[in-house]
Amino acid sequence: MSSIFTKIINGEIPCYKIAEDDNFFAFLDINPNTKGHTLCVPKKEVDKLFDLDDELYLGLMQFSKKIAAAIKKTVPCDRIGMTIIGLEVPHAHVHLIPLNTMDDMRFHKKVAMSTAEFEALAESIKANL
Ligand code: 5GP
Repeated sequence: MSSIFTKIINGEIPCYKIAEDDNFFAFLDINPNTKGHTLCVPKKEVDKLFDLDDELYLGLMQFSKKIAAAIKKTVPCDRIGMTIIGLEVPHAHVHLIPLNTMDDMRFHKKVAMSTAEFEALAESIKANL
């Protein structure tokens, strides 16, 4: 069965998309730690990040770096944090999270956003790519 991220990549489930290329896809996390929390995902469905082949692994880092720069230009924050977890969705992904405090990396603290806010934020980040 396809992962939820494969379904998002294939357009079977909606998302607030930021960018895609031949191998990677970026979209806003639906339950963000902070505004701008974004997921960068390889289109190839591999569960664990460190099981990606070197080309995809390094490509994902390069892709994430570009997305992080656009998020930083868009969202007022001290820096963009990056973390890898994968306990919820078994499809390798990078979390990019705008940070002001260490608390922003805690996955217990969430911000509520309306559909309109998600849409506007995704458009603003895209415009800064
Ligand atoms: P992890 O697998 O790294 O523990 O967490 C998965 C992340 O994916 C969570 O932050 C969660 O909010 C996000 N997520 C899970 N399902 C969806 C979804 O359907 N759409 C979006 N945009 N994000 C999701």
